[in-house]
Amino acid sequence: MQTIIEPFRIKSVEPLEQTTPAERERYLEQAGYNLFRIEAGKILIDLLTDSGTSAMSTEQWAAVMRGDESYAGSNSFFRLKRAVDELTGFRHMVPTHQGRAAERILFTVTCKPGDLIPSNTHFDTTRANIEFVGARAVDLPLPEAADTQARLDFKGNMDVAALEALVRKEGPQKIPLVMLTVTNNSGGGQPVSLANIEAVRGVCANYGIPLYLDACRFAENAWFIHQRELGYQAWAPKQIAQRMFSLADGCTFSAKKDAFANIGGFLCTNDDRLAQQETNLLILTEGFPTYGGLAGRDLEAIAVGLEEVLEPDYLQYRITSTGYLGRHIADRGVPIVEPPGGHAIYIDAAKMLPHIPADQFPGQALAVELYRHAGIRSVEIGSVMFGAAARHELLRLAIPRRVYTQSHIDYVVEAILEVNERKRNICGMEIVKEPPFLRHFSARFRPLAC
Ligand SMILES: *Cc1c(COP(=O)(O)O)cnc(C)c1O
Repeated sequence: MQTIIEPFRIKSVEPLEQTTPAERERYLEQAGYNLFRIEAGKILIDLLTDSGTSAMSTEQWAAVMRGDESYAGSNSFFRLKRAVDELTGFRHMVPTHQGRAAERILFTVTCKPGDLIPSNTHFDTTRANIEFVGARAVDLPLPEAADTQARLDFKGNMDVAALEALVRKEGPQKIPLVMLTVTNNSGGGQPVSLANIEAVRGVCANYGIPLYLDACRFAENAWFIHQRELGYQAWAPKQIAQRMFSLADGCTFSAKKDAFANIGGFLCTNDDRLAQQETNLLILTEGFPTYGGLAGRDLEAIAVGLEEVLEPDYLQYRITSTGYLGRHIADRGVPIVEPPGGHAIYIDAAKMLPHIPADQFPGQALAVELYRHAGIRSVEIGSVMFGAAARHELLRLAIPRRVYTQSHIDYVVEAILEVNERKRNICGMEIVKEPPFLRHFSARFRPLAC
């Protein structure tokens, strides 16, 4: 059979509510043209994020009922620990309430002011947590990745020569660790090859620097390796994931992505001394080490999700359906980051709306227009999110896992193509109010005339 179907059937449904264009205009005004500020009930198709928005399986819900809510030594913790051990092989694991809590703990115990943390591309919360402790987040993507149209198999890779040059220039003592984000979220959801992880590990090993994975989408990355990297076609996604983790000294993980959980995360390390410091900080701010800010039922859902996400049928459907959205809009003239990534399609808003300069936020203008037109929520990844550090002006359409069917995605395709037809009428935006950190979550905008 040629048709790749959703490898599940639906047992419980959640109604979607339509809104009128006039209602949507009012909601936009009230929200300061920031889609994070709009009530979810007023959204028809929510592609804001794939984070925490997955549909859980029957097995996960069954595991939720088995959650052991003991304060200390919960069975659910040991269930999760076994799942993480088997997958990653890391010596120490502490649960955290989500990925950024793992980041905050890791960078608090490893960084001092003036330090540098290189990455292929830092995610927004990762960058913010590094900067919060006075260190500098350095992105070292491939130079070719700057071209959103370049179709590279592993466009999420780190520029290994740039890493080597940075370590030589700054000295390894200023670099407490190197991070690799798999897949490279801010870089377009693009995968990182095993060869690149090995090469980065090689540089790290030469200079005695630990390598950490920001492993939020490890399974999607493993699937791309299975499909595209020479020599791994016969490897199961799980074996590939195990190989990826075996090259690192630790990881941060948001269970809200590739564990189909609605909340949760963890931090792993092989360093006994660090693990002790991390545990001390965990107790101070997250909770006792066997629950780390989560309920026992959450730990169970994550443990089951870590296994389900590596099933080949699921990964094939997941990556194919993301590509389906990408191909259907790109082949009709909407510029996307090529090739389609794992969890999201990124429209190149600067290319689509060349009449809107970066300081008038073309990605934000497009996000607003797509909501206004069809009730679809997406998110700007560009100058609003990263300020002057932004490399591109993108609009991300993130696909929640196991949530929307192909007809939902067909609706999204139609809406985007209609907006593209009259894109010359879309005008820029200006910021009227913003907070000091992570401004995209709460800034207020005003539409400009054009
Ligand atoms: C989501 C995400 C994080 C942060 O995780 P949260 O659970 O949202 O705190 C970190 N890195 C990457 C690559 C992510 O996608």
